[in-house]
Amino acid sequence: GGGAEVRQEMPTELEEKCATPTWKLKRIADAMNVEMHAGLASEGGSKLKMLITYVDKLPTGNEEGLYYAVDLGGTNFRVLRVQLGGKEGGIVSQEFTEVSIPPDLMVGTSTALFDYIAAEVGKFVAQESEDFKVPPGRQREIGFTFSFPVMQTLIASGNLIKWTKGFNIEDAVGKDVVEELMKAIRKQGLDMRVNALVNDTVGTLAGGRYTHNNVIAAVILGTGTNAAYVERVQAIPKWHGPLPDSGEMVINMEWGNFRSSYLPLTEYDHALDAESLNPGEQIFEKIISGMYLGEIVRKVLCKMAEEALLFGENVTPKLKDPFIFRYNVRTPDMSAMHHDSSADLNVVGSKLKNIFEISDSSLEVRKVVVEICNIVATRGARLAAAGILGILKKMGKDSMSDVKGEKNVIAMDGGLYEHYTEYSKCLENTLKGLVGEDASESIIIEHSNDGSGIGAALLAASVSQ
Ligand code: ADP
Ligand code: MG
Repeated sequence: GGGAEVRQEMPTELEEKCATPTWKLKRIADAMNVEMHAGLASEGGSKLKMLITYVDKLPTGNEEGLYYAVDLGGTNFRVLRVQLGGKEGGIVSQEFTEVSIPPDLMVGTSTALFDYIAAEVGKFVAQESEDFKVPPGRQREIGFTFSFPVMQTLIASGNLIKWTKGFNIEDAVGKDVVEELMKAIRKQGLDMRVNALVNDTVGTLAGGRYTHNNVIAAVILGTGTNAAYVERVQAIPKWHGPLPDSGEMVINMEWGNFRSSYLPLTEYDHALDAESLNPGEQIFEKIISGMYLGEIVRKVLCKMAEEALLFGENVTPKLKDPFIFRYNVRTPDMSAMHHDSSADLNVVGSKLKNIFEISDSSLEVRKVVVEICNIVATRGARLAAAGILGILKKMGKDSMSDVKGEKNVIAMDGGLYEHYTEYSKCLENTLKGLVGEDASESIIIEHSNDGSGIGAALLAASVSQ
């Protein structure tokens, strides 16, 4: 009947709205490159903050001793310790603990959040074993990975510019987050000190460089998204400080806030943005990162249920409601449906039932759901690839004549990249297509597992030594 026809047309219509043809990706990469220049030229010169990180040298491998890292992302919070063995020793031992951040703390007070973090640090330090040794008379030192935009004036301090990714703690904005953490640590009676404040992208870059000296940039695809890369100080007009020995500075792009008229934004994206905690901001992040992809899919399904009766007469309240605590359809649910390889799409069937209370979905309907996941994930992955091409252009490494014989590694991390295989495969293939088969041999995407935490510990070590 008519319903079936509409059901077939809707994914096609969505696909057209979400289309990312190669020409468009190239325009987006060019726009990214232009914005990078503008953000480096002057403070506030671009949607890209292009933050100076005060990291002017990356780990060398000679770092030695016990260091801690505290990693506050968007979903999870980790504390880890590494014993570094110096030149030949590498990472002698490492341990971590991970807890998810209670949703009420994401929108509460600065004190409540940092007290919670410091208490977790205290518990973890109490379990330190014989494998880890802090030299007598020395404090335990922390690299603090804080994955939100901060304005730094030193490696060990920085004022929060704004929250992203579902955090909204007003009284923390403008404050030095290192000072906030240190206050909470002192309250716990811990004898520890934060000596490096780093973004997760910068940590991933540092962690990647420790094992691979060809790492030139890092990209995070997790709850949110961001990128960092190594820039020549000469190419940073807004830098008025002393020239570092290395002549280089790591730049935290804050690319999640990128936006361009070439981005294929749909009615679903506009609605998501309007309902978010930060309307008008982080538009790139809202179409490519893990916090939002599942919610986009929910919005599409809801529309198809209402207008094309995708689920028959069934438009359950759960389908209409974006929130329980976090978004209702979370990206891991989306990727589980997308990756469903069973003949009758069992996983899709049970997700529809568990999340939306839609039982007895037909195979035809389940296929439509997978197709929608595919369209939304493909758009995100291809746009992420375009962003990376923009960085390569800025670095002059986007074509074969530039990269002849070199190896250039981009360190990648984040739960979305790590677990959403269809997404990461699509990203890699798209980048290969954009730079061309030959150059793609010189541009290597590497998963830097947990680089952000280890990288922060390494930076804490190199600051201390
Ligand atoms: P953070 O970004 O908070 O530092 P992670 O890098 O661990 O944390 O990323 C967590 C995010 O990754 C989740 O919020 C989710 O969006 C995404 N993610 C985790 N697991 C999966 C999965 N199986 N499939 C798709 N996305 C996932
Ligand atoms: Mg993280």
